[in-house]
Amino acid sequence: MNKLILVTVLSFFLFQSCKKEADNTSNNTKPEINIEMSDNPLLAEWDTSFGVPPFNKIQSEDYVPAIREAIQVHNKEISFIVYNTEAATFENTIEALETSGLLLSRVSNAFFAVNSANTNDVLKEARKEISPELTAHSDEIRLNSALFKRIKSVYEQKENLDLSTEELYLLEETYKNYVRAGVNLEGENKERLKEINKRLSELSTNFGDNLLDETNDFELYVSEKEELGNMSASLLASSTEEAKKRGHESGWSFTLQRPSINPFLQTSPSREGRETLFQGYALRGNNDNAKDNKAIILEMTSLRLEKANLLGFKSHADYVLSKNMSQTPEAVYDLLGQLWPSAIEMAKKDRKALAEMMKKEGVEGDFRGSDWRYYVEKIRAERYNFNEDETRPYFEFTAVREGAFMLADKLFGMKFKEMPDAPKWHEDQQVFEVLEADGTHIGVLYMDFFTRESKRGGAWMNELRMQSNVDGFVTPIVTNNFNFPPPTKDTPSLLSFGEAQTLFHEFGHALHGLLSNVKYRSLSGTNVPRDFVEFPSQVMENWMSEPEVLALYAKHYQTGEVIPAEMIEKMNAANSFNEGFRTVEYMAAAYLDMNWHSLTEANTKDVITFEKDAMDKIGLIDEIYPRYRSTYYAHIFSGGYSAGYYSYLWSEVLDADTFAEFKKTGDIFNPELTEKYRAMLAAGGSKSGEELYKDFLGRNPEIEPLLKKKGFE
Ligand SMILES: [Zn+2]
Repeated sequence: MNKLILVTVLSFFLFQSCKKEADNTSNNTKPEINIEMSDNPLLAEWDTSFGVPPFNKIQSEDYVPAIREAIQVHNKEISFIVYNTEAATFENTIEALETSGLLLSRVSNAFFAVNSANTNDVLKEARKEISPELTAHSDEIRLNSALFKRIKSVYEQKENLDLSTEELYLLEETYKNYVRAGVNLEGENKERLKEINKRLSELSTNFGDNLLDETNDFELYVSEKEELGNMSASLLASSTEEAKKRGHESGWSFTLQRPSINPFLQTSPSREGRETLFQGYALRGNNDNAKDNKAIILEMTSLRLEKANLLGFKSHADYVLSKNMSQTPEAVYDLLGQLWPSAIEMAKKDRKALAEMMKKEGVEGDFRGSDWRYYVEKIRAERYNFNEDETRPYFEFTAVREGAFMLADKLFGMKFKEMPDAPKWHEDQQVFEVLEADGTHIGVLYMDFFTRESKRGGAWMNELRMQSNVDGFVTPIVTNNFNFPPPTKDTPSLLSFGEAQTLFHEFGHALHGLLSNVKYRSLSGTNVPRDFVEFPSQVMENWMSEPEVLALYAKHYQTGEVIPAEMIEKMNAANSFNEGFRTVEYMAAAYLDMNWHSLTEANTKDVITFEKDAMDKIGLIDEIYPRYRSTYYAHIFSGGYSAGYYSYLWSEVLDADTFAEFKKTGDIFNPELTEKYRAMLAAGGSKSGEELYKDFLGRNPEIEPLLKKKGFE
């Protein structure tokens, strides 16, 4: 059945060019365009509350045809800009470009969100099929010389156009982005660039698919209860369920998902079991099978170098960093270098203590990476009388979620109202309307908490709709995704302290998207430089562990008792014990990323040798692997973090500095600072990172608070 669908996506230029002969006064009319198309819910008008995607009506099969149709619509919009017979103006070129492609972004945002959080075979295939087409489409636009001619012509008159600060920034960013994308390349070079982009997009999809399969395929099956040691009841219950799911009649199955592997490594007395699981994790994508990622890495890093060279940069890192706060690889290495020596020293000291503990227990042999977490827990218990499982009952996930909401209320007066009937992509999701204190609608927040096979690992936020205010205010729709332990028959989902931190972290990204208040969507919310984006998320981790915030939410799920102050003190002391490990594990991965992407000449080593050489160079110890080894480094090979994993540390300078500023006032909710902080979030990416920070605190960021926080001073 075909039906006529009204899609109100096109900029007024399209309409204007059709209508101009007859009517010269139509500039302010919002155009509508009628497109005849099939009965695809993605393309129909979304008559849901606040225009959220109708996930309940969308079938996996609907995405590819909808994206293709939306690409066609976008192409038409672009043509109208390019073939406009009037001279290029800010409105008919820059703003027209900015407001084009809305249908495509609405459909593809829904697609990528579902693809990451609740995939299936149809969606995986769809992604393989459509990613290269999307890349080619974006290249068609960004490498379009005729379009760029118009952009350049506006750019060259920028001083005389009487633009607002945000309009001027949009113009400059648009111009720079086209140059960065390679629009000035000609002939063969331009064709080669398109080929490279297309291939990179395929490879990155394959990398992620391989990793998901390698993670899901692995199983450690345990039939003897003795091997399990002091495992928490909730982990025992979830591993029993996992074993049943995998076809065992009894016993326990452990997987490479974080909620399974981490507690196992922390508590199982079976050295062999720990080693098996640890190596299973560390060898993902490196098993010389059909899911091996090594060849993909070599091809990707070589293509990225070739692309950077084509665009006039020495290396991929030079290319990427030129648009970040850091600007150059040297600045990144400089920051890493300021922390690395203290961090590795601290880790070596911890290793010595852990190895002694193992010896004291009468265990023969060398201390290994797979022993690390187990003996950390032993030392925590002995030195600090602390066991992480004691704290879990105080971090039941609903309570933690409420804690995040209460914090947003304390800081910004925000309210959260569940929308039980909102369409979801999975029944576990929870959807909230977000409101100002006075009841004004802010946006919608989707939260998806539990780990499952259809979800990629880790935790992330993404935007289903970005805030904008060109022809009326468009409110944002954002998502938070986690891999928390699912509730079992008898116990709710009890989070570790680290998992609770993750919830606040992602929620910080969500606030960044939700509180955005700018004109243009490409400058809104989290569209900020990569090394700035982790600042509003990480800063939340500071608040969540303050005693006065913990008192709001960290309550025992059975007794309602607030987490005792002594337990928090013990936890903080115990956590500081392993700080060296955490920093080293993270920084080693940041170095590895920088090593892969600062290459200025073709790499001739195999992946594992390259990695080993890079780690030897910084003196990493054998017992610690980088947080991500190359073959499962999704951030840089299937996410957007290539030459960018250092960003967490860069942002940490900003968040530690910011929180120290709050502390200095003696009030962690200081209203004056909070107001300035909210103004910074509201500005989204409408200014550079340096400017945003300067507007907020009136000065440049300082590194001392971070060094102090890490105990490196
Ligand atoms: Zn983050």
